[in-house]
Formats: sequence, C-alpha cells, structure tokens
Amino acid sequence: MSSDQPKKEISAIKGTHDILPEEARLWQLAEARAREIFELYGYRELRAPVIEPTELFEKGTGASSDIVTKEMYTFVDKGGRSVTLRPEYTPSVVRAIIEHRLDLQSQPLRYYYMGPMFRYDRPQKGRYRQFHQIDIEVFGEKDPAVDAEIVEMAHRLLARLGVEDVLTLVNSVGCKKCRPAYGQELRQAALAARDKLCPDCQRKAEVNPLRIFDCKNEVCRQVASGFPLIIDFLCAECRDHFHKFREYLDLYGIEYRVEPTLVRGLDYYTKTAFEIVAEHLGAQNAICGGGRYDDMVREFGGPDLCGIGFAMGLERLLSVARIQVPKDSFVYFAYLGDQAKKESLRLARVLRSEGIECLVEFRDRGMKAHFSRANKLGADWVLIIGEDELKKGKYQLKDMVNSRQFEGSALELAGIIKGKKILEIG
Ligand code: AMP
Repeated sequence: MSSDQPKKEISAIKGTHDILPEEARLWQLAEARAREIFELYGYRELRAPVIEPTELFEKGTGASSDIVTKEMYTFVDKGGRSVTLRPEYTPSVVRAIIEHRLDLQSQPLRYYYMGPMFRYDRPQKGRYRQFHQIDIEVFGEKDPAVDAEIVEMAHRLLARLGVEDVLTLVNSVGCKKCRPAYGQELRQAALAARDKLCPDCQRKAEVNPLRIFDCKNEVCRQVASGFPLIIDFLCAECRDHFHKFREYLDLYGIEYRVEPTLVRGLDYYTKTAFEIVAEHLGAQNAICGGGRYDDMVREFGGPDLCGIGFAMGLERLLSVARIQVPKDSFVYFAYLGDQAKKESLRLARVLRSEGIECLVEFRDRGMKAHFSRANKLGADWVLIIGEDELKKGKYQLKDMVNSRQFEGSALELAGIIKGKKILEIG
C-alpha cells in the first residue's frame, strides 16, 4: 500500500471488546470473589489452552449442536492441523483429565477456571464473539447432593456480587437408558409438525429434535410447546436423582422452577440441567448454565467418570452485579531538583517493599504543579522532598484526604500510611 493513502484506523474485531483499566478493576474483583468462594468448597484452578484440536469439540460439544455446526472459530494452522478457539471449557478439562491421568487421584476432582471463550454468533447486547466464562467442574461424584451444592455455590457467588432477582430453572434430561424412547416420540412429533418449523428446526427434526426447544423463533416455540416432554419419560434412576436433587435444593433454601423444556444447547448432558437467569436482562438473560455429563469422559476413551459443572458468563454477570471497587490509595512524590529526584527513586523502593503504591513521575515540575497533578490523579498522600528534607533525612508527608501533615523517616512514614490503611480497612 502506498504511504499517501489515507490511514484507516484498525479497530477491535466485531463481537470482541477491550476491558479498559477502570472496568478491569471490576473484573478483578469479581474474579477474586469467585476464586475465594470456589476454594472454600475445595475447588482448584485448572488452566487449559485457548486453542484445541477441532475434533475435541466435534466429539465433546456434539456434532449437531449449534456451537459446532455454526459458531466455531476453526482454522487450519501452518502445520495443516484443524484447530479451534475453544467455544466452551468442559471438553478441555475432560481432555486434560485423560491426558494427565488425573482420574488416578482420589475423587471427587474439583476444578475451576476463568477465561475467554469464542463463538461466531451474531453479536448483540449480552452476546459476544469473545466472551468470558467462570467455569467449575466436579468429576467422580454421582450423588445428587453435589448437583445441589454447585447450584448453591453459584448462588453464593451471585449474592457476593450483589446480583438480585435471579430465577433458577431446573430439569432432568434423562440418560442413555431413558432418552432413546423419548427421542423417538419427540422425533415423530417434530416430523409431524415439520412444515410449521423454521428451516433450521426442520433440519433439527431430523438430526437432533431436542435442539428445537432451544430455538428462539416464536412459531417454533409455540409448536414445541405441544411436544412430548422428557420429564414424562425418565427412568427410575433419573427420576430418583431429580427428586433428590430438588430435595437438597430445598434443604439449602434455594427457590427454583422446574422447566421441562430446558434442555440447554449442548449434546452431552445427562440427568440434571439447570440455568440461572437474571429477570431484567432482556433476551440474553442466562447468567449461568450447567448440568451433569456422566458419559463424556468414557466417550472420550477415558475411564467411567461422571461429571457435572456450570459456566457463568462474566460480561452478563458484571452487567447485573452491584459491586464497588475500593478507591486506590497511593503516594505521589513531589520533589524538586535532581538530588531529590534520586532520593525519591530510593524512597519509592523502600515504600514499595512495604507494600505501598508509589507514583514517581519524571516531568520537571514545580511544587505547585506537583500538587495539582497529585490532586488530578486522586493521590491520598503526597511525599514532599525538597532541599530541607534532603538535608534532614526526614520527609514531609501530606495526607490529602484529611489535610494533615507528618514528618519522618521513610519507615516512620510507611508506618503512618499503613496504619491508616489498616484503620480504614478495619
Ligand atoms: P453455555 O456454555 O452456552 O451454557 O453458556 C454459559 C453462560 O455463558 C451463559 O449463561 C452466558 O452467561 C454465557 N455466554 C454464553 N454465550 C455467550 C456469548 N456469546 N456472549 C456472552 N456470554 C455468553
């Protein structure tokens, strides 16, 4: 391109977004609270790569799911391999368990993770192409008490983030034993109503009629409301599991609604499926979705290890969270002359070692300019270093919030700053 052509701004890819520092503070806080809560329940972080072999999702997420058929960021890398930016996290954890033989460790295994996921979907409010999930998984625990415990853990996190007005929807999607009979009935009903369905659901009627329940099209929803429901086809084991799951939810005092058409967009669920929706979020109101997947590890060639988990969308979560980031507290260095600059550098090292945030800037400023800069930045403290202070080896510390001034050595002042911090926190 010739250099005299007008320059075109390069912007972020559609459906992706920057998280700028002020907002990132909120993300950090939400992530820290999630981490804290998950660890309280014995979960530990497992970090898997963002990029995986495409077949992992074709096999795991399911070849007929919307994610795999329409939404994957898949490309061939320079080595000729088909790779995919992960659209969800569960298949990666399953791969990691099998690859590292984590199943040999004592069970249950409890993992959590936070990070970006990628789906080539139509961007809109609450739906992005790169979005972020908080994800937890438990392996090797078949007791329905754990199904309820993860729902309770999700609720605890939502409460810690000040999220109100949520609704918990639960269902059972059956298992290998009871789903085939249901599948047949459902397919018959779907094929009989085929002409009324949207083209996408016409295809689903053939390959995976369960997915019709996910369609947002009003006519399809209307038609699907007359379809048979899985709940009426559950085998004794699934019925018992669902019953106990709900009993444990009652024990935790968690209100929920049984939603017989809740099948979730993924193929691998067995038994429990649930979703937590924020009532005033509009069309994209699901903030958390999860369920059990008792066959997945085995279907990947691993051991017979049942699993359950949930994923929360951080963007949606933060759009309804009511959290406040504490104000940053830091010391601004107001120095005059080269000697004092050097002393500032030395002092800042001491204070930072004491865990105090310091800002030393290198523009030549007079004392007045220093103070107006400190005010603009919102500094809590200004450390003044002029000729007198250099001579005495004692410095002036101005408390910008309470307009008080102290004099002392670096460590004495550090004590004052930290003491105030402790007082404020306490
Ligand atoms: P799923 O993996 O589809 O069950 O999604 C779990 C959660 O991730 C949802 O409840 C949403 O909060 C969030 N989520 C899913 N897809 C998107 C997206 N495209 N943009 C933003 N958040 C999403």
